[in-house]
Amino acid sequence: MITRMSSLFLRTLREDPADAEVPSHKLLVRAGYVRRVAPGGYSWLPLGLRVLRNIERVVREEMEAMGAQEIQFPALLPREPYEKTGRWTEYGDALFRLKDRKGADYLLGPTHEELFALTVKGEYSSYKDYPVILYQIQTKYRDEARPRAGILRGREFVMKDSYSFDLDDDGLARSYGLHRDAYIKIFERLGLEYVIVAATSGAMGGSASEEFLAIAETGEDTYVRSTESGFAANVEAVVTPAPPARSLDGLPEAQVHHTPGTPTIATLVDYLNTKTGLGRTFTAADTLKNVMVKIRQPGEKEWEILGIGVPGDREVDQKRLEASLEPAEVALLEEADFTANPFLVKGYIGPKALQDNGVRYLVDPRIVTGTAWVTGADKADHHVVDLVAGRDFTPDGTVEAAEVREGDASPDGHGTLVAARGIEIGHIFQLGRKYTDAFEVDALGADSKPIRITMGSYGVGVSRLVAVVAEQYHDELGLVWPRSVAPADLHVVIAGKDESVFAGAEKLAAELDAAGVRVLLDDRKATPGVKFADAELIGVPTILVVGRGLAKGVVEVKDRASGERQEIPVDDAVTHLVKLVRS
Ligand code: ATP
Ligand code: MG
Repeated sequence: MITRMSSLFLRTLREDPADAEVPSHKLLVRAGYVRRVAPGGYSWLPLGLRVLRNIERVVREEMEAMGAQEIQFPALLPREPYEKTGRWTEYGDALFRLKDRKGADYLLGPTHEELFALTVKGEYSSYKDYPVILYQIQTKYRDEARPRAGILRGREFVMKDSYSFDLDDDGLARSYGLHRDAYIKIFERLGLEYVIVAATSGAMGGSASEEFLAIAETGEDTYVRSTESGFAANVEAVVTPAPPARSLDGLPEAQVHHTPGTPTIATLVDYLNTKTGLGRTFTAADTLKNVMVKIRQPGEKEWEILGIGVPGDREVDQKRLEASLEPAEVALLEEADFTANPFLVKGYIGPKALQDNGVRYLVDPRIVTGTAWVTGADKADHHVVDLVAGRDFTPDGTVEAAEVREGDASPDGHGTLVAARGIEIGHIFQLGRKYTDAFEVDALGADSKPIRITMGSYGVGVSRLVAVVAEQYHDELGLVWPRSVAPADLHVVIAGKDESVFAGAEKLAAELDAAGVRVLLDDRKATPGVKFADAELIGVPTILVVGRGLAKGVVEVKDRASGERQEIPVDDAVTHLVKLVRS
């Protein structure tokens, strides 16, 4: 069927929406693909829905090709299964919870591990039934703290989620590998530039996990890769290599120094090197910076104050800290917290006051036994030099909180790290038995003994992908869709008012349509300028201009991406274009 712009439910906008920051958001709204309904809630208009369906189709085809079977769960789910795994509470504020008329608790599914595990338990009982991979393409709900960038981070969004069920670890590794390969095919078909990086497993639980990140400067995720090896990881998942512990023998005693006017690391280092006469050169890396935060476990009312110790040449990376402390909520200390805890001397906090007052103290993995530090002496204008870990203070554990920087040694020991940004488009997890243990999902083995099933969980952000493709495929004029997802194959612009031009364009459109080309026909009574601008904005890969040239027997074919134009005889147009859109 030919899509006619004269009747298409579409209004393009000249101006960027006021709330949009990233190009995909601006363009998808301006080109009339989506409209905002609520924070993180968008409706799909005809062209947008087509792109969404095209992406779904690619995802579905690759899932089916690997042998996964599609099912569909409700989004409205009872509390009990999520209570059983602890996620009713652990998911924290991101979970939409509601009650029915009888007062029973429900939630809107943020992800469906519980339901899939229960369903497999209900249907399957013998080892002969396994393995099995099930999936759905379904709407998910998460009350995101920061809905952002239109459909990039929604509170209602479409996800393909699949789950594998295997008898043993080898089987799980195989199912994981199948997903990895399928995801590679999906993202290649969508024409995306992406990387596969090591990831943390977050609220999901489990072990091995990787993320697929679309490369984009506007991305919320930062990843690093090694200059020399295949190492690549989300910075949240980078594990700092700990140096070996050192001997405490012969290390100088800790000494407290009066260090007036040194509230920052830079002023402190300068003071140490110029005013103390210690005869050594200090750098920021010799100092130990103590950052105070408070954390609250899901479902708890009380906050716990926590000290985080990192080498003074590094900042605390909020996202790394949050990932390390998940599922706890993390906040900075407020003035009232300092007032309530006078032992915290701002700017001069040291490990001693924390430990004397029962505050948990977690440190960067570089702070091993035998390392000596300059840090706060818990007294205004005073620092302590040569405070030795394992001798003068004993941390309560380590934490991955310090920023990862370009130029850092790669954790695998090969090369150094370079950093870039990306948008998470897929995530694959080897979950293991967290959920099958919770629901006792067993298969009866050949020896009649039960075998606990092991599970994997795998997600693709289907609606997010619409924005991600737009993020990678646009220019200053508008969207530039790759063929695999474009809302039409060909945008026919009727450039002229003559009856004959309209008739010629209609005839071409009908022939192309009959040949299976998805035609978007601009048959509006608008100026050519308006039509061209809309064609550029909407971003169909090929534009056919039918205008004055028709009288001489030629039409113009324009490639949206390169801007190249070519005049071709109208008699060859159908053959030429059919070939072009199938290539
Ligand atoms: P993020 O770190 O971006 O919040 P996540 O780790 O919470 O993602 P998963 O739970 O692994 O994401 O979900 C699988 C996929 O669903 C993600 O890879 C992402 O593409 C997509 N996704 C997650 N949250 C959203 C959201 N709020 N809006 C749109 N897509 C999302
Ligand atoms: Mg999330």
